[in-house]
Amino acid sequence: MNERRRRCPWRWGDREFAPGEEGEAHIDVSLRYVGEPVQVPVIVWRGKRDGPTVFVSGAVHGDEINGTGAIRAMIYERPFELTAGTLLFAPVVNTHGFERHERYMPDRRDLNRCFPGSRSGSMASRIARRVFDELVHRSDYGIDLHTAAVRRTNFPNVRADMTNLTLASFARAFGAELILSSRGPRGSLRRAATEFGCPTLCLEAGEVWKVEPGVVEYAVRGVRNCLIALGMVEGEIERPPFAIETDATSWTRSKHAGFLRLHVAPGDVVERGQLLATNISLTGKRLSRLKAVRKGIVLGATTIPVVAPGTAIFNIAYAKHGDMMRADRAISRLDDDHLHARMRSDLARNVRIVKPG
Ligand SMILES: [Zn+2]
Repeated sequence: MNERRRRCPWRWGDREFAPGEEGEAHIDVSLRYVGEPVQVPVIVWRGKRDGPTVFVSGAVHGDEINGTGAIRAMIYERPFELTAGTLLFAPVVNTHGFERHERYMPDRRDLNRCFPGSRSGSMASRIARRVFDELVHRSDYGIDLHTAAVRRTNFPNVRADMTNLTLASFARAFGAELILSSRGPRGSLRRAATEFGCPTLCLEAGEVWKVEPGVVEYAVRGVRNCLIALGMVEGEIERPPFAIETDATSWTRSKHAGFLRLHVAPGDVVERGQLLATNISLTGKRLSRLKAVRKGIVLGATTIPVVAPGTAIFNIAYAKHGDMMRADRAISRLDDDHLHARMRSDLARNVRIVKPG
């Protein structure tokens, strides 16, 4: 139990959710210029038995709506039944950005750099404070759903401070193949919540402006796994085919301007020296070949194969040799309809991946 938790998870204003009850609540976060309230919707599910409280949030960056889609799937399609504890779904935290399909707030601030926020600070900081007080102060654990930034896509990966042992076991329960260990940027929801005493992980999956079926399936499976681990949902945790935990990643960048022929996709294991992309000029002349500097797994990729010197092309995660070998073997044994294999082909679908040559 989060000892610093100050608010009751099932009491929202005048409304009290009884055991087994569910319904809607909201957080008043700001006012529009014309004076109308700006509200963050919250869906409250209270299990019949007591247990922990978990928040699941989406669209803290207003254009990252895969998380919103995943929450919609959970509340509409009912992939699991809550038996204990309380679930708080916040499908759209940054309602301003969501309305305009933008990452940022109207004051051009990044809401995910403003937590825990301040009651007397900037517009974004006050909104962050309201969300933090109403959501994090009610919760024992958090799951914050994100995507890659604009013009990039991410193979699903969990980010969490793995030096926090409670958070580490929560993050492992999610069942992602890839966990990146970091505290997170200063002001991010996951970092501020974890430091407050509400261990919070973040899922980075897919790209902006889309609700991708594979990403939704991945996120729902992960949330369900976490809830099973906490005893809030019954069932078996679905384990990933392999698991890599690392804090080592680097971006491969283009040397020239021109067009790219991409040879690998997010989720692929790449060997040291393997050709990742060929940079060609507008007239088709080969300018350079980009190779992997180490064996690793492709975490993120550009979705626009037009580059200038320094453009980030592939984000690659590196891990211990034994872990990489296990990943290699596990991937080679997967059926095409396994979620990992489907994710890989889904994410590569709108980018042409060709064999080198
Ligand atoms: Zn984000």
